[in-house]
Amino acid sequence: MHAFTYLRAERIEDALAAVAKPGTKLLAGGTNLLDLMKGFVEQPERVVDIARLPLAEIAELPDGGLRIGALARNSETANHPLVRARYPLLAQALLAGASQQLRNMASVGGNLMQRTRCHYFYDTAFPACNKRAPGSGCAAREGVNRIHAILGASPQCVATHPSDMAVALAALDAVVEVRGPSGVRRIPIAEFHRLPGTTPERDTNLARNELIVAVSLPRSPYAAHSHYLKVRDRASYAFALVSVAAALELRDGVVQSARIALGGVAHKPWRSEPAERALAGRRLDAQVLEAAGKAAVQGAQPLRDNAFKVELARRAVAQALESAGGAA
Ligand code: SF4
Repeated sequence: MHAFTYLRAERIEDALAAVAKPGTKLLAGGTNLLDLMKGFVEQPERVVDIARLPLAEIAELPDGGLRIGALARNSETANHPLVRARYPLLAQALLAGASQQLRNMASVGGNLMQRTRCHYFYDTAFPACNKRAPGSGCAAREGVNRIHAILGASPQCVATHPSDMAVALAALDAVVEVRGPSGVRRIPIAEFHRLPGTTPERDTNLARNELIVAVSLPRSPYAAHSHYLKVRDRASYAFALVSVAAALELRDGVVQSARIALGGVAHKPWRSEPAERALAGRRLDAQVLEAAGKAAVQGAQPLRDNAFKVELARRAVAQALESAGGAA
């Protein structure tokens, strides 16, 4: 591992001052950063440990929503009574991710900031990776690309975002609260992660001198009818080939509103408004489920090895919706 200076931030202001300096990385649970450092993908000069900052509280908001501190552990969040009661979709997604040991360490903020699991990004023996070394090319485009994106990719990068939690947050219209030198900024989750475009080295719209302090969720009408479906190569401790967060507001079996987000298919959690429109005002019969599945993969552009993901995503959307609506 590259030599670096370790510092511990005791106050949020200290973390903000430190992160503004080039060559600095923030350490929370360390479940992704340490792997990247051990593989020489990340080689920071300074690592600032923020794990002791007072940012782990999970609290109800006056409007019935929930504010989850950026340092709340994934396991604490998944098992929190208010998350389980009001946002079971988020609890399911968190529990589908990683292992119990990793969930005990990983934080909400770190989960949002985790980097792609593209093999070529992690393996520095491959020089061509625009995300790791801008301008170097993309080894995955013509390489082994079974796990890569089918939606929203660019010639420069076809990586996918690995988080399960962020897919549920996309469906639940979460807002990411960040703090910088000029105060607090609230970023809707749909605008937090980026598509690769010509700058795949940038995963998010977080500025270098900002810190995630919390994620807030609006009051949700979806607790009774939601489901997170994760399809992966093995039953646990694997990233999604395709995942679907489905949430329905039903009245007398008719969809009043729907939220659909997919994981494993794009550089960011992929919210599918066409699929949501296909459901509005309809009953969940086989024809409507199929229409929603088809709408979710509109515009898909598979690569050599991952055409199967188009059909998988289509079916996963239909299945997740059926499970979400099951108790209607
Ligand atoms: Fe790098 Fe993105 Fe290409 Fe993977 S898909 S090799 S992360 S540029």
